[in-house]
Amino acid sequence: ARQTAFASAKGPGRTADGHAVPLLANIGGPSELDDAVSAGAEGVGLYRTEFLFLDRAEPPSAEEQRRAYRAALEAFPGGKVVVRTLDGGADKPLAFLPAPAEPNPALGERGLRRFRRFPEVMDAQLGALAAVASPGLQVMAPMVATAEEAGWFAQECRARGLRDVGVMIEIPSAALRARELLVRADFVSIGTNDLAQYAFAADRQVGAVSALHDPWLPALLDLVAMTATAASDAGKPCGVCGESAADPALACVLVGLGVSTLSMGAAALPAVRAGLAAHTLDQCRRAAEAARAQPTAAYARAAARAHLPGLD
Ligand code: PEP
Ligand code: MG
Repeated sequence: ARQTAFASAKGPGRTADGHAVPLLANIGGPSELDDAVSAGAEGVGLYRTEFLFLDRAEPPSAEEQRRAYRAALEAFPGGKVVVRTLDGGADKPLAFLPAPAEPNPALGERGLRRFRRFPEVMDAQLGALAAVASPGLQVMAPMVATAEEAGWFAQECRARGLRDVGVMIEIPSAALRARELLVRADFVSIGTNDLAQYAFAADRQVGAVSALHDPWLPALLDLVAMTATAASDAGKPCGVCGESAADPALACVLVGLGVSTLSMGAAALPAVRAGLAAHTLDQCRRAAEAARAQPTAAYARAAARAHLPGLD
């Protein structure tokens, strides 16, 4: 029993009946790699590269970027490393990119929209990624709203020799049209933090509306289900890299909705791994179905837990 407990504390993510769910880490820079490896992450599911650029008057040099990306690839030989291109603006201001005066920065020029306007920043980042590329490298764009944006990003990456190109699903329009985005992209990764912000029109920086960021809200689960179904129909992977993946019961529900990988802060990995290992894929599916049938977040959580004994 000790052996089994140890195996599930460290081994690859899987349900009790052996359905594999790679468990990956969210990181903001090379200093977080040790914790990710110690927690048994199977790779990096979200490398928030804007943290390399924060609080600096100048962007990091090409060499510094190459080093930061190479460190992650070397920490997970044979594993996946999903690097997200610069997600500046709104809650992630970048000193070296002049911020436009906007009344609603979360609805303004942030993420990919910003990246697109600064070709020299894009060239430096995609160039650094292409220079260190190994088979495990995946590159993805934040804040993609349309198939046109997905196509543009994929083309820019492929022109530089980057092969595995994805987009984040964190705007409801992208979830609604995931099918078209997946014609252009090799994979999708759902960012439930922003997806909740935009689905419920509730600024993630405003505490007064934080109840609307509850990831158990059934409308959010619907958007996840819609995206996962589109990915499964396209035969392409669909991850979740928002905070919702760090809740063990919700992680089971996400898997039940059809999500193929989960990425979270390293500290959450052991509990999520243990939660998955204790339930079958069928239990996860029933929990997901029960949650989606509810009218509120609290009912959804309670309904899911009835199918996931041992999780609270
Ligand atoms: C998200 O929006 O869910 C996400 C993973 O990205 P970030 O929190 O960095 O915006
Ligand atoms: Mg986001």
